Amino acid sequence: MELADTFDEIKTICDCGNKAIINARIDGNGHIVTTGAQVVLGGNDSYIAMCHRCYETGIREHKIIKLHGQ
Ligand SMILES: [Zn+2]
Repeated sequence: MELADTFDEIKTICDCGNKAIINARIDGNGHIVTTGAQVVLGGNDSYIAMCHRCYETGIREHKIIKLHGQ
């Protein structure tokens, strides 16, 4: 089941409920992009607001980040 998120504005609250302070870049596979030097034009990257804890955990555990509105 897919939820259709109708919010267009950038979320400022992380999914865990903490205040989001990082605009994490997510690649087409749902992984957080940590190689900031590479910019893929026309790629499938998206951005999602996350708290620092979820950001670090996501990188460390290679979590698949669920994007909103996709
Ligand atoms: Zn969080």
